[in-house]
Amino acid sequence: MSTKCTLSDRHARKVVAQAWRHLRKHFPDDARILSVIVRRIVPLSDEEEGAGYVGFWIRKLFKTKAQQQAFEKRFKHGQGFGFIKLVDNRDLTLASVAHELGHAFTSRADVLARCSPVSEWAHESVADLHAVRWGLLTFKDIEKRHGHEQAGRSYSRIGFGSEGRWHHGPHPSDTPFEYEGRKWVLSKDFVFSPYVPPVRKVRKQKPWNF
Ligand SMILES: [Zn+2]
Repeated sequence: MSTKCTLSDRHARKVVAQAWRHLRKHFPDDARILSVIVRRIVPLSDEEEGAGYVGFWIRKLFKTKAQQQAFEKRFKHGQGFGFIKLVDNRDLTLASVAHELGHAFTSRADVLARCSPVSEWAHESVADLHAVRWGLLTFKDIEKRHGHEQAGRSYSRIGFGSEGRWHHGPHPSDTPFEYEGRKWVLSKDFVFSPYVPPVRKVRKQKPWNF
């Protein structure tokens, strides 16, 4: 089985083909799994495009329990099958394609390992983790996107999430961020942890003279 791509824009098709070529060459095992779990790559609707979406992964439900069990036996990491929707014009970037493929590739263990205080951020971080691991997304791309989100322009799925929370969450950095009154950091391997301030060196005191 292989993934069907129904995008029509020349640039967009080229970018998708480039991502597959890269994965087949450098990550053949992952490419094989992706070509089964991603059934189709289709254009966003005009409405979705107008709302500023760049792309998303839609996981399909299995029709029967037997179908699900057969799939789970084959893909032991809890991935499911579905399709990717992408912007079908010149705006499509390799980083966006990789991020959506990263969503498709996400396993349950990947999500749990993020230790994220927000489940949405765990999912977004796993997508980025795979895209970075494949060499198709850079930390610079992520930082740029983060800037967009802070400026109130979410990179994709505008309006998703509650109370205007960043859709993609924080970007990996040594600088802590605050969430619900606590400080957190996100490491370069996309693991969230409570921020522990560096221990200040205490100058040795002279002993007291009595
Ligand atoms: Zn995402």
